[in-house]
Amino acid sequence: MNELKQKILTDGRLLDGYILKVDNFLNHQLDVGLLERVGEAFAERFAGVKIDKILTIEASGIAVACMAARHFGYPPVVFAKKTQSLNMDPDAYEVEVFSYTKQTTYKVRVSRRYLSAGEKVLIIDDFLANGHAARGLIDIVRQAGAEPVGLGIVIEKGFQDGRKVVEDAGVRLESLAILKSFEGGKVNFA
Ligand code: 5GP
Repeated sequence: MNELKQKILTDGRLLDGYILKVDNFLNHQLDVGLLERVGEAFAERFAGVKIDKILTIEASGIAVACMAARHFGYPPVVFAKKTQSLNMDPDAYEVEVFSYTKQTTYKVRVSRRYLSAGEKVLIIDDFLANGHAARGLIDIVRQAGAEPVGLGIVIEKGFQDGRKVVEDAGVRLESLAILKSFEGGKVNFA
């Protein structure tokens, strides 16, 4: 997606040579117009695929998943929670996920009310790096007896292992921007 790549080039910043900071359009401030077109791009990539529900993970995946839902006929969007709060349904599917940016493991939960056997689920997230979050979400969908029909990623770090993890799990992956390297202190696309 050209517009997205241009935005990464003009507004993205590299931190410590391995994290791409995109706070001003995806991870903190949101560029709603761009996200609208991101949603549209996912709809084009997954055209013809039956989707009952979209699953993402808080926080940054939520806006992207909602924008995608607008272009898939408004299926419900479910977001996996990262913290156990009092109002979280205790009857939940649960997985442990290693956080690449925080370098720690945390639990991810989805209430059993919101994923059911037989549902066709499109998973959406902002980044794919080593595939820990993606694998966790795929696992949750399968725990529910539902089917992960695809994974839509806004920015894939193509030099990390995420793609292999997702393909090994047997899930179709569509990424709108694939980064090849951060060589020379700048973003290079695949
Ligand atoms: P993974 O689980 O695939 O290793 O990492 C995916 C998650 O880590 C994403 O949901 C995202 O929150 C975060 N992440 C990984 N790499 C980056 C990065 O370079 N920039 C940003 N902003 N987030 C990243």
